[in-house]
Amino acid sequence: MKCTLPGEIPATTDITPTASRVSPQAHLPTTSRGSRWEELNRKITACRKCPRLVRWREQVARTKRRAYRDWTYWGKPVPGFGDRQAQILVVGLAPGAHGSNRTGRMFTGDASGDFLYSALYRAGMASRPESHDREDGLVLTGVLISALCRCAPPKNKPTLAEIHNCLPYLHQEVRWLPGLRVIVALGRLAFDQTLRLYRDQGAAVGRLSFAHGAHYSLGERLPWLIASYHPSRQNTQTGRLTPAMFDSIWAQAKSLLSEQRAPSAVRPSTHRAGRADQGGCP
Ligand code: SF4
Repeated sequence: MKCTLPGEIPATTDITPTASRVSPQAHLPTTSRGSRWEELNRKITACRKCPRLVRWREQVARTKRRAYRDWTYWGKPVPGFGDRQAQILVVGLAPGAHGSNRTGRMFTGDASGDFLYSALYRAGMASRPESHDREDGLVLTGVLISALCRCAPPKNKPTLAEIHNCLPYLHQEVRWLPGLRVIVALGRLAFDQTLRLYRDQGAAVGRLSFAHGAHYSLGERLPWLIASYHPSRQNTQTGRLTPAMFDSIWAQAKSLLSEQRAPSAVRPSTHRAGRADQGGCP
């Protein structure tokens, strides 16, 4: 079966412009490429495909958390954020109810985001170490952050059907990152569903194990895939994921940028640490 490159994944998204706000880094020069990203982001933020998630994200936005009662919650799906020429793609699970669902930007406004952006800042890929709201001027270089599911789910747990509803948006982003070299999957579910994405496109990817720091080639001319624990509070506050462990992921990602892609379909990691773990939700 033909193994399709990231840039060749067929478009599965019907892109229909609708009015909405987008993240600051989405305001790039109006080229044809920029324009189609804007259209995709408008399509995402207008999506109502999953009734349970639509109800939940909007209910959370109305009731709010006491600490954020003065905020106008975003309460909509959250588009990808970052560098549209990225060589590194980060795949999370879903927005946090009072994080991204409040601020409207990936990993922005909660402890998971603080942990992620401080690591990206140390790695030289983020312009600032914190991320409070979508107008804070944060700029990412060489990395784009996305997720399996764009709506905040109850108990941070989207169903598989909801994830599958949402995956076409991730497919589209992957398709528009022709220089993509490394995917960092945050948590087991992101890891498994990223593999599914490539298998669905015909990549001969076998059974791969999730372990923090494990990295794999997905095949000739396809990106490397790195598995990382998710920077959820349950992982970072228990010490399961430390700043040093997370820093090693980004050092590994940068190191792999200069690696030749493996000629074989799958090459297991030579660098593994830790044990398999779901890693929680944002
Ligand atoms: S989870 Fe994705 S597919 Fe479902 S409503 Fe939200 S944006 Fe749409």
